[in-house]
Amino acid sequence: MSASQLELVFLGTGTSHGVPMINCDCRVCRSDDPRDHRNRCGLAIRTSAGKVLLIDTPTELRLEAVACDIRRVDGILFTHGHADHILGLDDIRRFNDVIGGPIDGYSDEATRRRLRVIFGYAEVPYELVATFRPCMRFHLVEGPFSAAGLDITPIPLLHGQDEVLGFRIGNFAYCTDCSAIPPASMELLGGLDLLVLDALRHTPHPTHFNLTGALEIVTRLKPRRALFTHITHELPHNETNAHLPRGVELAYDGLRVTVPA
Ligand SMILES: [Zn+2]
Ligand SMILES: [Zn+2]
Ligand SMILES: [Zn+2]
Repeated sequence: MSASQLELVFLGTGTSHGVPMINCDCRVCRSDDPRDHRNRCGLAIRTSAGKVLLIDTPTELRLEAVACDIRRVDGILFTHGHADHILGLDDIRRFNDVIGGPIDGYSDEATRRRLRVIFGYAEVPYELVATFRPCMRFHLVEGPFSAAGLDITPIPLLHGQDEVLGFRIGNFAYCTDCSAIPPASMELLGGLDLLVLDALRHTPHPTHFNLTGALEIVTRLKPRRALFTHITHELPHNETNAHLPRGVELAYDGLRVTVPA
């Protein structure tokens, strides 16, 4: 990896149920293709300096970190407070141990409130918790900020009625869990090398883009490449990819992509 690149590791690309879904015998849930198996949605970003940022702490964080060989975490960007995006937070204890201190978490106010209700035990001085608890230092995102040496622009998105955050770093943006992008946020998403975007399934959904809606956004923003995530069992990997336009693909668990920083 050259000095000015980021390595993105897709930890999970599944919707909140995960794929295979409990008690489902559909052909995607029963598929032999590992790219049809989707853990809950999250991303790791490795900087050229060797620091690692997570986007969200999905339910299967430990399994994903082990599978993707994520050995450290220096900060966490939270998109929103839904269970599938935060319930793996307890697993960051191991990363506290590795870096020898608290981990910085960045979120909006609503998400921080949710994190404090569920993981209030993680917000105590590091010296007191040893490795028995996760240890977080929460920061409120109110505008552009820096983490792990990267300049980050929050992108307000609509997830049904809820406002959630996407993040832009250089010419890469990650926008999961959204059903609409307000005009002011579309302005923040021009000139992208890579857009990662929610594309739940074929059928419409009140709080997520379906494939058609996600493709409309890609047509308007014209990123060089788009990868879709937060996918249900409605979309078989190979078959769906074969029908997508050039430069647009479904992401899959374990996918690694390098982008300019
Ligand atoms: Zn979700
Ligand atoms: Zn299924
Ligand atoms: Zn959500």
